Amino acid sequence: MGHPVIHATSARAHEERRHFWIGGAWHVPAAGLDGPCVLVRDPAGRDSVGCVPDGTAEDVDAAVAAARQAFPAWSASGTGTRQRLLTAVAEGIRKDEDQFAALISAEMGAPVDSARLVQTRLAADVFASYAELLDGLAWEERIGSSQIVREPVGVVAAITPWNYPLYLIAAKAAAALAAGCTLVLKPSSDAPLNAYRLAEVFEAACAEAGVPGGVFNVVTGSGAVVGKALTTHPDVDAVSFTGSTEAGRTVAADAAATVKRVGLELGGKSARVILADDPDGPTVADLPAAVRTALADAFANAGQTCTACTRVLVPERLYAETVSLAAQEAARLTLGDPALPGDHLGPVATSRQYADVLAYIDTGIAEGARLVAGGKASADRVPEGLEAGHWVLPTVFADVTPDMTVAREEIFGPVVCLLPYRDEAEAVRIANDSVYGLAGAVWCADARRAEDFARRMRTGLVTVNDGQFSVLAPTGGYKQSGVGRELGVHGLHEYTELKTIQW
Ligand code: NAD
Repeated sequence: MGHPVIHATSARAHEERRHFWIGGAWHVPAAGLDGPCVLVRDPAGRDSVGCVPDGTAEDVDAAVAAARQAFPAWSASGTGTRQRLLTAVAEGIRKDEDQFAALISAEMGAPVDSARLVQTRLAADVFASYAELLDGLAWEERIGSSQIVREPVGVVAAITPWNYPLYLIAAKAAAALAAGCTLVLKPSSDAPLNAYRLAEVFEAACAEAGVPGGVFNVVTGSGAVVGKALTTHPDVDAVSFTGSTEAGRTVAADAAATVKRVGLELGGKSARVILADDPDGPTVADLPAAVRTALADAFANAGQTCTACTRVLVPERLYAETVSLAAQEAARLTLGDPALPGDHLGPVATSRQYADVLAYIDTGIAEGARLVAGGKASADRVPEGLEAGHWVLPTVFADVTPDMTVAREEIFGPVVCLLPYRDEAEAVRIANDSVYGLAGAVWCADARRAEDFARRMRTGLVTVNDGQFSVLAPTGGYKQSGVGRELGVHGLHEYTELKTIQW
């Protein structure tokens, strides 16, 4: 009953979902099977790829009640049961990785190879990482005459965006379930189909692990209705939100009335600093590699990565050479059909995002930045037959000053700004001159200087040279980039309360 009705349309299947996943069953929405739906559009410009029900507060009530009912047994479950469920979910995602990749690619435009390699496998890795870290995790400690006991916070509402839809669900669901919480998920209406596929993985995994299905529930719909019903619900104990800083403020304010625990993973405007080999020197070891790495990071996922370093700070003496290398590298990159394998860039995910990115490019030009590559894609750079898609070329702005809009606001598209700096003190000042503090990067041949610089950046994550991401290390933001951390043991602790029992 929960399985989608698939109509073969032009190039892709159209996946109609009519139910919610609530209490371990496919649940008919309060508005009925023919109630209002949200269309999921293909960013590459083909027909819509599916639809999901537009949920109501009544649907949220049903999902929260199911999560509440499942909480006592799940919070009392042992490590072995939790590990079995998390492992079965990780394996279920891995087994269906081609299907997940095709869905994510169709919903939000990531080229299918990166939808598989990054978006899908990372999600499976997160579920597996929580199964592993439960081994040997300390739940209690003794302080003086007190026993300190870590307990699950309760029913969690998880609200997620479209840019890495499955991975960002995994970061919340795996940590909350490992902590012993039960969950109601509201995925983004722009990319909700992968969440339905995940609910099917949960259906099988719960059966395999002998766990009641109500530990994980899914309701779709708008932020204003379903999101708000969750953040204001008296029976939700904690909200974990990933999305824009603007919506995060509303979520925090709405959750304040019932004093919920709130985790926020928000926007960023991160800086990458290329350091000269010695502080006064005129060279950077392998500047072409530094520029290639910078652009690969900024343009990954068509620039729709919250941690993307979209401000690249370059020593003044090397500025002209860097601008020319960046312009050449951006021009070499191609746009392509996300359904096809390859390392091309896909379209921007939504029409709103597309309009916003193009408006930012116009603002950059109007404020005096120099467009050295990219902009709205001309017909000859757009994949044939997909002219209606949201195509933005990899875009590079030079002569950017720290006060320009394009250097201050999150664009969330394939747009990178190159800023010159005179000395390291100025580089630190520019890098930290942001309301955000999500991420940063340092490129330097001298590892000691790179680490020293990383420690001076006011952000939750700093990548040195081609440093690797770990699913066990905490991520999260300073300043207006968020509150709390996700992933690993630090992420699990966000879903717990501490109780002191004293004698
Ligand atoms: P968004 O804020 O528009 O929406 C995110 C989710 O919140 C969606 O499910 C939406 O329906 C819901 N929502 C919106 N308003 C709400 C409200 N008032 N109450 C409850 N729920 C509400 O964000 P988006 O456009 O989907 O995603 C892009 C943004 O996400 C970017 O700003 C990006 O930087 C940020 N992001 C941050 C991280 C991180 O880890 N810090 C990761 C990925 C994306």
